[in-house]
Amino acid sequence: MTEPVTTLKGVGPKQAARLEKLGIHTLTDLLFHLPLRYQDRTRVLPVAGLRPGDEAVVEGEIALAEVQSRGRRMLILRLADGTGALNLRFFHFSAAQQHNLVRGVRLRCFGEVRGGRQGLEMVHPEYRVMQDEDAAAPVEDCLTPVYPTTEGLHQISLRRLTDEALARLEHLPDWLPPGVLDPAGLPDLESALRTVHRPPPDVSVAALLAGRHPAQRRLAFEELVAHHLSLYRLRTRTTARPAPVIRVDGNLLGRLRRSLPFALTGAQDRVIRELERDMARPSPMLRLVQGDVGSGKTLVAVAACLHAVEAGHQAAVMAPTEILAEQHHHNFRALLGPLDIPVAWFSGRQGVRARRESLAALAEGTARVAVGTHALFQDEVSFEDLALVIVDEQHRFGVHQRMALREKGARDGRLPHQLIMTATPIPRTLAMTAYADLDYSVIDELPPGRTPVKTVAVSDARRAEVVERIHHAIGQGRQAYWVCTLIEESEALQAQAAEDTYAQLQEALTGVRVGLVHGRMKPREKEAVMAAFKAGELQLLVATTVIEVGVDVPNASLMIIENAERLGLAQLHQLRGRVGRGTAESACVLLYHPPLSDTAQRRLEALRATTDGFEIARIDLELRGPGEVLGTRQTGMMQFRIAEIVRDQDLLDTVKAAATRLMRDHPDHVEPLIRRWLSGAEEYGRVG
Ligand code: ADP
Ligand code: MG
Repeated sequence: MTEPVTTLKGVGPKQAARLEKLGIHTLTDLLFHLPLRYQDRTRVLPVAGLRPGDEAVVEGEIALAEVQSRGRRMLILRLADGTGALNLRFFHFSAAQQHNLVRGVRLRCFGEVRGGRQGLEMVHPEYRVMQDEDAAAPVEDCLTPVYPTTEGLHQISLRRLTDEALARLEHLPDWLPPGVLDPAGLPDLESALRTVHRPPPDVSVAALLAGRHPAQRRLAFEELVAHHLSLYRLRTRTTARPAPVIRVDGNLLGRLRRSLPFALTGAQDRVIRELERDMARPSPMLRLVQGDVGSGKTLVAVAACLHAVEAGHQAAVMAPTEILAEQHHHNFRALLGPLDIPVAWFSGRQGVRARRESLAALAEGTARVAVGTHALFQDEVSFEDLALVIVDEQHRFGVHQRMALREKGARDGRLPHQLIMTATPIPRTLAMTAYADLDYSVIDELPPGRTPVKTVAVSDARRAEVVERIHHAIGQGRQAYWVCTLIEESEALQAQAAEDTYAQLQEALTGVRVGLVHGRMKPREKEAVMAAFKAGELQLLVATTVIEVGVDVPNASLMIIENAERLGLAQLHQLRGRVGRGTAESACVLLYHPPLSDTAQRRLEALRATTDGFEIARIDLELRGPGEVLGTRQTGMMQFRIAEIVRDQDLLDTVKAAATRLMRDHPDHVEPLIRRWLSGAEEYGRVG
């Protein structure tokens, strides 16, 4: 079934080119090109029962035929079937049609029913003139599929081609044997494909349209199993290679603990122990650490670095944006400096000299830890002895970038350990699918003494009240943030908006010390403003979303987010995480500009209802889909042909079991299965 479509009757170069546009090259591709919806032509329906919007077959006698010449010229037929009558309108018709379609002729037609001025009608229905001997002519014996198509390729052609492919279906190997399928209660491949392409009339059309029919689920299941296997193969290729064994007394971590004004949470300790166990093994750690905003991921990352350093190696920490990387650099220096561990900094914006110094320090080994953006995996960056790679916010990086940094630690076939951290919680279902190649830890506990943030959504018509609220909070000795948002990614526009708001608020809040911070300011200026806010010298901080990460001022207990409807759930949750860090009751005001779209309304409602990052991530996934949540829309990593993570999440546990079983009992099925579903993503597998 890997033959090209040109082996089918009537498929020449032109038709093949059209099919190619749909991603159809082989007969197998054609079979996995599934219908979008179905038409029911299996029954003739009485006219009396029709409603506008129905697609139906009706049969009756022409009671009236006339060519209307008033206004737009058209042929109108009145078709009566004994239960009622409807009009058929033809704007284009030949003389022959006009001649043949006359009173008394029996027609069977198929079309969409519309409500017209003179009752129900069909415009340009498909029709067939019925002769007497056709009286019992059969209708279609299965539902009629409607395929996604492209210009110049007709439904009829697609149906004919799939008919031919279906006729050869027995040659298509089924890589999922009964032992794998039965526990999931799903049909075999052949019957699944037949049902999906040519559903019998008694099938549940509702289930089909919802993609919930067992036949469709079987195909989604196979795709998910293939995806899982490909990630798993990536993993085994990695873990088959050696890695430096890191086994230390933990002296450095001990010194850090003693210097902290607080104890680590139980969850932090547990995750650190998991990392220690991984790194003590002679194969590379591959671990994802998730934790909600403020759960204290930084210290967990620092702990892993300290172990690598204590064992005499180097560690690298990579973040996806300048601001996030800067924050890490700041935090790492503050925590590692007292332990006399030099940190090298890499950024796309740094000057030539600073960069040269960082490069030398890393290559010679005077720097033991490197922090930076993707500038870290450029060619000229080389390490003396890299043993640990930490990637923050993994999902903004592609798998390829992760691999690139990892290769920097490759020596004599040895790979560094890898720790991936995400600041945005990812629902378990999604993590299981997108990161099936990784082990998985959750920091499921916030440091003690935090009070949940109260969240309200307020129309911007009530802006004055909100300003009054700031006044009140500041009068009580508290501090507040005012976050300006813009749809544009442009830093310049964002900065401008923040400056305008800053001016307005300064005027409205006389006597209040207001500060401003945005992405266009020099790092030193930003730091000075932040330091003043932290020290309480500034009472209100007007900011762009640059404060999304890393800002930590426990006395700040009020946050206003302007135009909150423009931001995604995850980002709003991150922003809100900047308040509620102290013991005081905190509040977040989502200021919106009405009218709200449905999804915007659901987003704001979700934020009002919960502060649990995982719950918010789950809702985000439902609202936006996995590509957006993972930020991988461009990389195509989570683009499935048939499966949909949200719809099919109940399959995921069985998918994992099925993949394990296949690898154990049918290892020869693994490769062809991956090839069937991920042929376009070959490169992705090759990197591993
Ligand atoms: P995130 O998980 O969002 O990256 P951070 O690592 O930035 O969180 O930590 C958030 C804040 O909590 C920081 O100020 C950090 O010093 C503080 N923190 C971390 N761990 C603890 C702890 N166990 N007890 C108290 N405060 C903590
Ligand atoms: Mg963090």
